[in-house]
Amino acid sequence: MSTIAELLKQAQSSLPGSESKLESEVLMQAICGISRSQQFSHPEKKLTTEQAQQFSTALQRRLSGEPLAHITGSRGFWDMDLKVTADVLIPRPDTECLVEQALIRIPADAEWQIADLGTGSGAIAIAIARERPRCEITATDISDAALQVAKENARLLIADNVLFRAGSWTKALGEGVFDMIISNPPYICADDPHLQQGDLPAEPELALASGEDGLDDIRLIITGSVPHLVSGGWLLLEHGYDQASNVAEMMLKAGYKDIFKQQDYGGNDRVTGGRKAG
Ligand code: GLN
Repeated sequence: MSTIAELLKQAQSSLPGSESKLESEVLMQAICGISRSQQFSHPEKKLTTEQAQQFSTALQRRLSGEPLAHITGSRGFWDMDLKVTADVLIPRPDTECLVEQALIRIPADAEWQIADLGTGSGAIAIAIARERPRCEITATDISDAALQVAKENARLLIADNVLFRAGSWTKALGEGVFDMIISNPPYICADDPHLQQGDLPAEPELALASGEDGLDDIRLIITGSVPHLVSGGWLLLEHGYDQASNVAEMMLKAGYKDIFKQQDYGGNDRVTGGRKAG
């Protein structure tokens, strides 16, 4: 029988990359049910044969390239633990910057109608719904499997001010009119080699790649949102590090004003937004 410390050490040395220590600890917590404080306070504790076996199976899966979030079945985002499956994009810290930019613009007591297009795991919609309980969030996705995950997350996180609609981008909104539309759409160029790296090959391509210049879906969202926004209503989009000026230009042409951009924590342009003019 091995101790917590021994198994963590073995895992850390077998996993590649700079995150190997953190990943080993996350696996120990999620797979063996050993809390972070137990890991530090009782490293000499022996795991049961079953726990050690589960840990070793999880480690093998990680070594074969499966994303950590698929093995643990969850990923932290904002102040939440979200359920994650292979049917949804794994929530990224970059997207917290989009949530922040939305919250800056939504007054604390607002009773806004807000749409989150392509909600995936529901990360953006549920974070905003919990921070602004008087707002109603319509979360859409073209993938029914993704909507099931988002619904389950909203249920577990007790976000009952989120509605779900199936469909492609603004087509899912029917006749709905909103005070804010927000989206983290796919924005990677279809031939970008990054699609073959890290966790990306295990994620839905539909949620990542968007045509030759990565802007196909953003184009549709910018033009499609105009009839679904109140006058002065906001559109906020996450995009690739080199797409901010293209997105701003498309928004201007489509009749948006007060255009802003915001960098993520890595210093890359990540969010562009503006308001429907007129
Ligand atoms: N930011 C993600 C990545 O580069 C892509 C997410 C997206 O396409 N919306 O891995």
